[in-house]
Amino acid sequence: MAIASTAVISRAQQPFSNEPLTDFSKEENKRAQREALAEVKSELGRTYPLIIGGKKISNADTFTSINPAQPDQVIGHFARATVEQVDEAIKIAAATFDSWKRVPAQERAAYLFAAADRLRQRRFRMNAWMIYEVGKSWVEADADTAEAIDFLEFYARETIRLAGEQPITRLEGEDNRLVYIPLGVGAVIPPWNFPCAIMVGMTSASFAAGNTVILKPASTAPAIAYEFMRILEEVELPGGVVNFLSGSGSVIGDALVDHTQLRFIAFTGSRDVGLRIYERASRHQKGQRWLKRSILEMGGKDAVVVDETADLDAAATGIVASAFGFQGQKCSAGSRAIIVEQVYDQVLQKVIEQTKRLTVGDITQPDTYMGPVIDENAMKKILEYIEIGKSEGRLVVGGGHQGPGYFIEPTIFADVDPHARIAQEEIFGPVLAVIKARDFDDALQIANDTEYGLTGSLYSRDPERIKRAEEEYHVGNLYFNRKCTGALVGVHPFGGFNMSGTDSKAGGRDYLLLFTQAKAISAKK
Ligand code: NDP
Repeated sequence: MAIASTAVISRAQQPFSNEPLTDFSKEENKRAQREALAEVKSELGRTYPLIIGGKKISNADTFTSINPAQPDQVIGHFARATVEQVDEAIKIAAATFDSWKRVPAQERAAYLFAAADRLRQRRFRMNAWMIYEVGKSWVEADADTAEAIDFLEFYARETIRLAGEQPITRLEGEDNRLVYIPLGVGAVIPPWNFPCAIMVGMTSASFAAGNTVILKPASTAPAIAYEFMRILEEVELPGGVVNFLSGSGSVIGDALVDHTQLRFIAFTGSRDVGLRIYERASRHQKGQRWLKRSILEMGGKDAVVVDETADLDAAATGIVASAFGFQGQKCSAGSRAIIVEQVYDQVLQKVIEQTKRLTVGDITQPDTYMGPVIDENAMKKILEYIEIGKSEGRLVVGGGHQGPGYFIEPTIFADVDPHARIAQEEIFGPVLAVIKARDFDDALQIANDTEYGLTGSLYSRDPERIKRAEEEYHVGNLYFNRKCTGALVGVHPFGGFNMSGTDSKAGGRDYLLLFTQAKAISAKK
């Protein structure tokens, strides 16, 4: 077992608290991050296997993960899983489920605590993989690793809580209990944009609850997922509990989702892929004995609303951070700024000034704010939206790109119509649409008028408007007088409404329930 059982109990009794972020103004932290960057650099270009049932399986057919800041730099070559290997992995995961489901919750939690400890020790290393493989800044990468540690700590406590006695109404003459049991084999399909946190969160929630997992990493971020597999191996998680199946979603995704022995899918990614999974998972396959559960977290077109009572400097800072952190590649990114007429020009001016000060470039340096977007396809798509934006709004900052990496300038369009494509469609890049509203009512109406409902923010000093927004701003994560990104595990359980997903809340106290089913047990006395 990864940690002694008494240690697990006492650790689980400690209230959860968020992992502190690294202070990169300290020289020792800068040095440690530079050393980890050098260490990881020396490991670039290796070839990685699949991991099925604890066995490493090399495939002749591989795909390459590259550094988006320097596309000729190979991060690694990864085995391209076949449809037959999907079947093999699910069968092994199903066989492993028979034993893993009997492992007591405390023991399962011990693996999560041990993995959290390992990840803390390897923090700078994990950051370095993210800096190279997806172009995160030091600060963004560090927050991503911290969030992953949080998920491990949080779900370890949660699995122990759920294994405890559950509140149930007493009935004279009977003993009644409610227990949460696991579901079975799950497919975990994470995105590349929180390549550590979301991947670790969905995977660890699945096995913490007693399920076994097929982890199919995003094809642009497999090295980060592999680093987590190393950690699971080091903490001696039994083989077959988490199986690593790299490969293209468009090739193996359907085989995974359609498989008769698959019980659930935990997916985070785009709207279109989410919808496809939702539809396919709902179809009954021959011999399938259950309804598959889909836990889907999808896109966003999130807004920062500013009214005339707001602290305008704080609002401008919040708009810029929400729009351009990690190059705008967050589901929570504030890609719309909706500003009431009375203060529109003032706020826009401040946003423009702050945006012009952002640095774009060498993301291996601690002070660079923005790196590249994830790949060439993303760059092309974003540049197409910038062209569309030129006919839908007034380009006031950016619009250009620099090579050879996939760098795009932070870009702002002003005077955008609320129904313009750049105000409705998720661009997933550093493009901000600024929209003028007549007044607060109009702003709120515009904010709600998209098919998504993930995050939203309001800058206002008016308590009545704040109260109204609490009731009427229809988003899963609503923030007042702060940016709309940066949710913390436990503090801001995260997940959205409408086309943003199945209304789940990662890092919340009802999340683990999604990975279980409840069994009521009653005995006549
Ligand atoms: P994608 O939907 O392109 O990919 C997500 C995952 O799905 C990847 O692992 C991908 O594999 C896989 N996939 C692709 N096609 C299929 C298929 N047919 N069947 C099964 N799996 C498939 O999203 P991105 O990775 O580009 O991530 C960005 C998106 O994620 C944005 O829309 C963003 O808003 C959303 N997101 C939502 C969050 C939320 O909490 N609501 C949080 C973070 C991101 P492969 O890489 O091989 O194509």
